[in-house]
Amino acid sequence: MESQIREIHQLLVDQKISCTSLIQEKLAALKPNSHNTVNSLLEDLALEKAKKVDEKIKNSEKIGLLEGIPFGLKDVYMLQGTLTTASSEFLKSYKSAYTATAIQKLIDAGAIPIVKENGDSFGHGSSSENTIFGAVKNAFNTELVAGGSSGGSAVNVAKKYTVFSIGGDTGGSVRQPSGYNKVYGLKPTYGRISRYGLLAYASSTDCVGPITTSIEDLRIVLNIMSGKDVKDQTTYVSDEISEEQVSKSDTIKTIGYFKNFTENDAIDATIKSDFLIYIEKIKATGINMIALDFFDAETLISTYYTLAMAETASNLSRLDGTNYGNRMEGENLKDSYSISRSKNFSEETKRRIVGGNQVLSQGFADDIYIKALSIRNEISENFEKDFQEVAIIISPVTPNSPPKIGDSLKNPLAMYLSDAYTVGFSLGQLPTLTIPQGTLAGVQLTAAKNNDDLLLKFANFLKEVI
Ligand code: GLN
Repeated sequence: MESQIREIHQLLVDQKISCTSLIQEKLAALKPNSHNTVNSLLEDLALEKAKKVDEKIKNSEKIGLLEGIPFGLKDVYMLQGTLTTASSEFLKSYKSAYTATAIQKLIDAGAIPIVKENGDSFGHGSSSENTIFGAVKNAFNTELVAGGSSGGSAVNVAKKYTVFSIGGDTGGSVRQPSGYNKVYGLKPTYGRISRYGLLAYASSTDCVGPITTSIEDLRIVLNIMSGKDVKDQTTYVSDEISEEQVSKSDTIKTIGYFKNFTENDAIDATIKSDFLIYIEKIKATGINMIALDFFDAETLISTYYTLAMAETASNLSRLDGTNYGNRMEGENLKDSYSISRSKNFSEETKRRIVGGNQVLSQGFADDIYIKALSIRNEISENFEKDFQEVAIIISPVTPNSPPKIGDSLKNPLAMYLSDAYTVGFSLGQLPTLTIPQGTLAGVQLTAAKNNDDLLLKFANFLKEVI
């Protein structure tokens, strides 16, 4: 599918549609909330912005490419004056005091935020069922989960309720729901986009991630949001990716895949055979395909969940009902903290806080937390070695197709294991892109740090040749 942004931009410039009618149409599509994607609609804000765009066009003023384009944002991004609930009971009534850098950059470019989107609360989950707003339903089959945690964002894009959406990816939360709903979802290199104003889950892997229906839209939105931000010291200066750069794929000659991802019993038979057929098709285009060794799923999952739980326990310690969140009074201050946290956090979030505090505590930290940090270093070294041989690593997004709504909640461990193919790249802080090709749940392309352009380029090549 070609760029929706460019198409809509042209319609606006040619005055074939008005921005107000465009926004009204999207809001009307979101209102019935048929897939539980909506936490809140930004109706007044959006219509006010649309009016200004229409006035500019009427006065024959030039408008930017993103001006008037409606987008959605996962309900973990601060947008001043709007509710930012993280899909949780705790922050059900919390209003943002400021705006996230990535979102501000989109707004400065003229894009119009229309909806705060549902997902797993605090990013905790892989199915968008761990939410107070009702399980998000898959865009193609409403009995199946949307994936998560950015399920609402992926479904809104797939259903065209938004032109693009901004999800958050800590261990796969943009890539996996994008795969489940057949759209493009990018986890950029860690630090390429500022995390300022993104509610923290695991700070060392949290990434702002755009979801779109085309590679060109991904390029446009990524360029706008990228860049150094003094408010997030992990950000760096990156080059803009040009349209021309993306259309030339001749530099990519060798790619790799992890043998052990497909050589185990956990992978669904159809996903496995589709993936193997897909890599044969890529080979047939003349590309060199190398089978690589990687860590097993159990090591990846336990390393990721150890670190993610430790970081989320630390990040969420500020939610005590006093500074932030829904306060519940106890007999004394300690009691109030305890009741507020026990009653307002979900079971899944509490499991992670308890687990995180455990791995960080004296007597356990050396054997668990510090060990996980050292395995993470080994994973990064492994990637550095791989990327001396190959330009891209290709993998399925998940070992399974989307489960039925309700199934993941019954077995948290099985849900954690379903993240086996996404979390390794998060630990490596590498750019990884889900494309709606190859398997039922898409495939992922990964490149070395700061080579996000290679992903778009190779995705474009695959779109044209396969
Ligand atoms: N499913 C993974 C988790 O629950 C990833 C979530 C995310 O990326 N926010 O931790």
